[in-house]
Amino acid sequence: MTTNNKQDDVLLKFQSVIPEGRLLVNEPLSRHTTFKIGGPADYLILPAAIDEISKVMVIAKEYKIPVTILGNGSNILVLDKGIRGLVIKFGSDMSDIKHSGARICAGAGAMLADVSSYAAKHGLGGMEFAIGIPGSIGGAVFMNAGAYSGEMCQVVHAVSGVCADGDVKRFAQPDISFGYRHSAFQDNHCVICEVELELTQQEQPMIEQKMNEYTVKRETKQPLEMPSAGSTFKRPPGHFAGTLIEEAGLKGLAVGGAQVSKKHAGFIINAGSATAQDVLELIKEVQRRVYEHSGVMLQPEVRTYGQE
Ligand SMILES: Cc1cc2nc3c(=O)[nH]c(=O)nc-3n(C[C@H](O)[C@H](O)[C@H](O)COP(=O)(O)OP(=O)(O)OC[C@H]3O[C@@H](n4cnc5c(N)ncnc54)[C@H](O)[C@@H]3O)c2cc1C
Repeated sequence: MTTNNKQDDVLLKFQSVIPEGRLLVNEPLSRHTTFKIGGPADYLILPAAIDEISKVMVIAKEYKIPVTILGNGSNILVLDKGIRGLVIKFGSDMSDIKHSGARICAGAGAMLADVSSYAAKHGLGGMEFAIGIPGSIGGAVFMNAGAYSGEMCQVVHAVSGVCADGDVKRFAQPDISFGYRHSAFQDNHCVICEVELELTQQEQPMIEQKMNEYTVKRETKQPLEMPSAGSTFKRPPGHFAGTLIEEAGLKGLAVGGAQVSKKHAGFIINAGSATAQDVLELIKEVQRRVYEHSGVMLQPEVRTYGQE
């Protein structure tokens, strides 16, 4: 089969499963990342049900199409030539939130802020830390996202996901092997579709007070007005990445449109028309100069996808 025939075939197969409007071809990923950077995806699917994900995974396997998963795109750098193959992007079509007692069940596309607010409204504590993290709950489980001493691993009860062969599997908390910004999903490549949280009954005003405190802290310290992917680097043991970068005198350092934020050195921002190449070069330069200054080699927390 020629390449063009294969592409037509694959498209027809995807179209048989995903309705028009939720299947995009050659879609610029700069529209789907908080960095506002990234070339096109060959195919981008916005799933609305677990069953659809199973079916597209089977097609992708049959045609040997690589699959990349996107939540809200708030922890990723998509390279300038984009992503070959299929991108499955979780959003509002899979974002239902419901609860029974202290247990919340959320679709992987539900935004953390919405889950935290839902929990607060129902007098359920434990998700306050997540109020200002601009990710989906699926992405947050994948990353074991955390802030202000809270982490997803403290509240996740179980996860339902679809594996590469299209089978649906339920992962209990011990199967998820959470670590610092790590979960088993980084190794098993299953698609997180639904997340169950186990929270605790608390007074609503107490929960809201904590959420307000965290929001004020974030607004004061982080460059939320500029496109970024949050903290560029992981926290090295015994240090803070932002402090090391600041001490090396790198606040404001720029490559093309990418810049070390002057407000918070831990963030690289898109100061205007930055390319992924600009960001990659700036990351390398920061790593080199911080290592020279402190002997610590920073490791990126931001995950890179696609082709340069
Ligand atoms: C201003 C700002 C502040 C931030 N503050 C914090 C913070 O305080 N703490 C923190 O931990 N992070 C923070 N982040 C980073 C980011 O918001 C989190 O890592 C978030 O959990 C990522 O979620 P996402 O839905 O955007 O995932 P994406 O960025 O879309 O994806 C991240 C990774 O998860 C994978 N993934 C996403 N969804 C799924 C799924 N359903 N199934 C399988 N894999 C999936 C992707 O393939 C990718 O590897 C911040 C980012 C910004 C821009």
